[in-house]
Amino acid sequence: MDYFDINLNLSKEDEAIRMAAREFAQKVMRPVSRELDAMSAEEMVADGSPLWDFLKKAYELDFHKILLPEYYGGEGISPLQVHLVLEEFAWASFGLSVQLLVVCFPFYVACMVGDEELIETFVKPFCKCRDGSIRGCWAITEPDHGSDILAVGEECFESEKMRGNLQAILEGDEWVINGQKSAWVSGGTIATHALLFCQIDPSRGFAGNGVCIVPLDRKGVSKGKPLEKIGQRDLNQGELFFNNVRIPKTWMMANPDFYVPFLDMVLAAANLSMAALSTGLARAAFEEALAYSKQRIQGGRPLIEHYVMKQRIFELFARTESCRAISRAAINLNFNISPPHVEYSLWAKTQCTEMAFQNSHETIQIWGGNGLTKEYIVEKLFRDARATLIEDGNNETLARHGGHILAETYPRKPDTF
Ligand SMILES: Cc1cc2nc3c(=O)[nH]c(=O)nc-3n(C[C@H](O)[C@H](O)[C@H](O)COP(=O)(O)OP(=O)(O)OC[C@H]3O[C@@H](n4cnc5c(N)ncnc54)[C@H](O)[C@@H]3O)c2cc1C
Repeated sequence: MDYFDINLNLSKEDEAIRMAAREFAQKVMRPVSRELDAMSAEEMVADGSPLWDFLKKAYELDFHKILLPEYYGGEGISPLQVHLVLEEFAWASFGLSVQLLVVCFPFYVACMVGDEELIETFVKPFCKCRDGSIRGCWAITEPDHGSDILAVGEECFESEKMRGNLQAILEGDEWVINGQKSAWVSGGTIATHALLFCQIDPSRGFAGNGVCIVPLDRKGVSKGKPLEKIGQRDLNQGELFFNNVRIPKTWMMANPDFYVPFLDMVLAAANLSMAALSTGLARAAFEEALAYSKQRIQGGRPLIEHYVMKQRIFELFARTESCRAISRAAINLNFNISPPHVEYSLWAKTQCTEMAFQNSHETIQIWGGNGLTKEYIVEKLFRDARATLIEDGNNETLARHGGHILAETYPRKPDTF
């Protein structure tokens, strides 16, 4: 549906970017996403899958590099424009939106670091790629460590008892990497490059970690099977294994001395994206509920003509606008300052994912039995939204991390904004 935007100051360029994203979302993303959702995880990444054509089209339209600055070859669009694009994408498919974001993540982080060698070796080729053949992922979660590895400020995080499943050791001018990352790495089995989190100094627990870029065609890398799951089935996921994989010393972007602020920067960006995407999903659910309530007749008139239904529809609208307001405010803050105020990204991610989930849940209820059938998108929105409460850090762990920041740094002084 055509959608009124509460921001009356959108420029012509903002509108044009939004309309380009909307057209791609409606004509390409949503139909492909529904096809992929019905396939097995293996079929989805096999030759001939519509996933490949989708990625090629997205790269041709430069949608793979919306987060990257113009001077390195990226799109250089504003934080608000990023939000507009992500909302449209997630209206069509949360899973494919995440896929399109993770392809750029190692390169996005390399831009943050700004090291010339990394820019020339990795970022510029990615920005020039038009056929979808260079694809990143970020790999932090391990089989034995999900929340632990994100739990900055908690005792476990700095405990020497925390032995990660993946270690990197410096030998001369090379890092030697051994271990594995969990099956939850988004885009993992189809990625060509990983932003890899590895333990360097186990005596500091996970505070002794580092972050590097690893091309996944290096000797000693192997991948697991694509993961089968209930939601975001159109998002490929799978394990990565490293057996004596060697990379140059200079590809380690963060070492233990800078690891915690680095993790916070990465988490802040990932969580902002999750919040913006939740707006699209919340809106998709709201639109489905509104349309159905006008069409379905019960008690002799359309559902929407019953007073209680008017209230329920309004609540869906309210949550959608709340998602949009919160995620835009957080993106506007944290994409414009460095270092970011992480608590605002955590606020946006935890609140917006919960509201999008509530919308998808309530929309099924409004659709009644029809909401449960595979025939309509409503049940997919619900499955996809459920995954967001765990994705990029489960919401309870992120809230604890936010509380830790408040305990340590609040009340903030005005000049720290
Ligand atoms: C769709 C999706 C996409 C993802 N994409 C990626 C990706 O691209 N890259 C990547 O590396 N990872 C990715 N992940 C993994 C994700 O970050 C982890 O699943 C998440 O951090 C939670 O870890 P876990 O699943 O191991 O749960 P656990 O950490 O085992 O948590 C299980 C439960 O225990 C609770 N809990 C944990 N610790 C505590 C505590 N100290 N006190 C009280 N309660 C606790 C949690 O709140 C939760 O309810 C993805 C996950 C999903 C679902």
